[in-house]
Amino acid sequence: MAKKQFKTESKKLLDMMINSIYTHKEIFLRELISNASDAIDKLYFRSLTDGNVNMNRSDYEIRLTPDKAARTLTVSDNGIGMTRAELEENLGTIAKSGSFDFKKEGEGKETDVDIIGQFGVGFYSAFMVSESITVVSRAYGSDECWQWRSSGADGYYVEEGVMDGHGTRVILHLRPDTDEEKYSEFLDEYRLRALVSKYSDYVRWPIRMLVTSERIKEGSPEDKPEYEEYTEDATLNRMVPIWKKPQSEVTDEEYAEFYRDRFRDYEAPLKVIRQKTEGLSDYTALLFIPASAPYNYYTRDYEKGLMLYSSGVMIMEKCKELLPDHFSFVRGLVDSADLSLNISREMLQHDRQLKSIAKALENKIADELKKMLETDREKYRTFFKAFGTQLKYGLYADYGAHKALLQDLVLFDSSNGEEPTTLKEYVSRMKEGQTQIYYAAAESRSQAELLPRAEAVVKKGYEVLYLTEDVDEFALMMLHEYDGKHFINVNSDGVDLGTEDEKNALKLENEKSADLFAFMKEQIGDGVSAVRFTNTLSGHPVCITSEGAVSTEMEKTLGRMPGAENGIKAEKVLEINADHPIASKLKLLFVEDKDKLADCSRLLYSAARLISGLSIENPSETADLLTKLMIG
Ligand code: ADP
Repeated sequence: MAKKQFKTESKKLLDMMINSIYTHKEIFLRELISNASDAIDKLYFRSLTDGNVNMNRSDYEIRLTPDKAARTLTVSDNGIGMTRAELEENLGTIAKSGSFDFKKEGEGKETDVDIIGQFGVGFYSAFMVSESITVVSRAYGSDECWQWRSSGADGYYVEEGVMDGHGTRVILHLRPDTDEEKYSEFLDEYRLRALVSKYSDYVRWPIRMLVTSERIKEGSPEDKPEYEEYTEDATLNRMVPIWKKPQSEVTDEEYAEFYRDRFRDYEAPLKVIRQKTEGLSDYTALLFIPASAPYNYYTRDYEKGLMLYSSGVMIMEKCKELLPDHFSFVRGLVDSADLSLNISREMLQHDRQLKSIAKALENKIADELKKMLETDREKYRTFFKAFGTQLKYGLYADYGAHKALLQDLVLFDSSNGEEPTTLKEYVSRMKEGQTQIYYAAAESRSQAELLPRAEAVVKKGYEVLYLTEDVDEFALMMLHEYDGKHFINVNSDGVDLGTEDEKNALKLENEKSADLFAFMKEQIGDGVSAVRFTNTLSGHPVCITSEGAVSTEMEKTLGRMPGAENGIKAEKVLEINADHPIASKLKLLFVEDKDKLADCSRLLYSAARLISGLSIENPSETADLLTKLMIG
């Protein structure tokens, strides 16, 4: 019998399991029971649509068999079983690819504890307690039985096996006890019972074990009872799904445990949301907001969706129709008595009832988030750190259709202080006579604060929102206004901070210098559409502002998108501080030294680009000009 090798990733994982110092080795039982339950689900589900499956619902069971003499623990099920190919495919390869990519990021820092905790590595976890494992399986409807066995990372064998019915038997040959670890505890009835009720109580199929107890022997005298041992086939789990229990009977810890197990997270959820309705559409939803974003959340790999149950039977693992994109981070399940069991994916898309459930859940999630924002700011900040970007995408998506739902859920940094603000809070602090909501966009908060125009606006006593994410400005553009107040980029030409007199004076000054500006513009070329004086710079000599819908920050974002080589550009204006000595110097040069003015124009333009976070178009020319000026 040829020994086969594990695929590389599987081997690494297996090594990790075998040498594991993970303290919660007991979770292997939960993993195996979960697999058994899934296998029964699959067969049961098939039986609903396939008349050839000859099983009654009450026939299904998961069985635990501890054998002290042989030092084995067997977990068996009469579910769908595996063919030879499936045995090899499923147990020779780790399904959760990507877990290692993740680990590489912080190489060296993580321990095996992290990876086990984070990815709930399923079947392989049994190697934490076993020196070897045998899996005997027979696929439903097949005459063949196959057996997989392995004592670790050096490979596995697949050979013919024997089994009467269909299903799978996982036989763990437990490791010898050591001073630190007593693996024999997994042969102990009481310990197994406790583990089942801790981790697998809600499993829908009965988990049975032969339990030996003592009882009073029949007919023995009442005053001097005699005892006898007897064995009963006990069901260890209560089988009531956690979402069907009255809420008062479920502790936070139980919800968290359920969540971690079902949704393979290593952290407790930030928030548990329950929704139970009866009437028009009758369903229970149990939803979780994770405490941090999964490693692939902001990638294409991430699949949104809720589990869909029909009266306790799982009919779909990820029903994406139940969640809008802006709440794609929510995990959980919906159990409805009215959904037909053999509903197909195509039908789901048009299912009115499903749509109305989805709508109700969307509102419920939004309400809960709002409540969190109002009552527990700190928690909300944690939430927003993980998923805020998604909400902002939501504002932007579908031409702003989700505005009403989302606009009060987003936070922005602001000049008001360290605490990010909502738009509502911003508006409540607006100065008397202020009509617009100011924002400055840059790569970071500190860069935004340093933008000359931002500084000037803050100095005038207005609050400025600091936008630091690519999506921010697009989201605000889509919102257009909040509470009747329009958003305005501090760098746009629409900002006016002066009094009427100041404005008139500036206008006059600009008209007088039209020739100067025309000359400067000619030196700079297409980079700007105009040059002019401004009084909105408080001390700084120059800046670039934009006219029209596209700002320089948006230009940068759009430029990063694929296929953007000849992309959209902001209409840029070079603004020169009318109150800065450079203004009179330029006027003088226009009269006395046009050559030098030409150099200065190009240098000022480069400097202004740098301030805006844009790159210099011709760095070596800039260096030449700079040194030329220095030499005089
Ligand atoms: P996961 O359960 O997360 O997919 P596992 O490593 O635990 O990962 O299992 C890998 C695969 O092996 C499962 O997806 C399933 O197809 C198969 N499998 C495991 N245990 C059983 C079982 N008891 N019956 C049928 N198939 C099983």
